[in-house]
Amino acid sequence: MANDSVRIAYLLNSGFVVEDGAGRWALVFDAYRDVRGDVERVLASAAQVYFFVSHAHFDHFSPAIARYEKAAKFFLSEDVRALSEARRFPAEKTVWLGKYDGWQGEGLRVESFDSTDEGTSFLVEIDGWRIFHAGDFNWWHWSGDTRENIKFAENGFMKQMKRLDGRMFDLAFFPADGRLEEARDWGAKEFCRRTDTRALVTMHSVGYPRFVPDAEFFAPGREIPVWAPTEPGERRIYQKGSGFSE
Ligand SMILES: [Zn+2]
Repeated sequence: MANDSVRIAYLLNSGFVVEDGAGRWALVFDAYRDVRGDVERVLASAAQVYFFVSHAHFDHFSPAIARYEKAAKFFLSEDVRALSEARRFPAEKTVWLGKYDGWQGEGLRVESFDSTDEGTSFLVEIDGWRIFHAGDFNWWHWSGDTRENIKFAENGFMKQMKRLDGRMFDLAFFPADGRLEEARDWGAKEFCRRTDTRALVTMHSVGYPRFVPDAEFFAPGREIPVWAPTEPGERRIYQKGSGFSE
């Protein structure tokens, strides 16, 4: 029987734990800190714990996760392989994903996409859920940058969006980085308009005020629930067709 609600804990930056309510599975994305012990908690409580690392940047990847012997699998972006710490991961549990790769098994289906920064983004299908984690995929519009770089960032983002057009995600994790100032929500806004995303969790904005979508963020009639955590350890329950609750 499929679950219609999941529990989500914010770790830090783009780090999240998503777990079903029944102790059967948990997904851990880009865990580089675990201030409140959420990773340890699901390792103790969930039967299958899957780790995902979108890329090797220090604020997305901690080699320390390799020590979790209870992990069912580690899905690691190919760029992590270049690090010496890559050897710490047990080969039989590690799946290396480049862009546009896939893996299937154990009731899980994983698809990877390109990023506009290092590494990949992920679509994870499990237990009737379709969960997208962008990694550092975003419209990185830095207003002070050169015209060439600004155009390059836009082109890269739009090119990748073509691969995502029209796809349905029950839940999507996407950057709304405060450093981008007025362009903070450009990527997430375009992503929500072009995909059939049912609920949005914003991320990658440590130290900035909580993101609040403005009146133009959603296309008319296309409003969806948004959760924009700021404090490590913040938790929500998300129920399909309903929204986020504490
Ligand atoms: Zn990043």
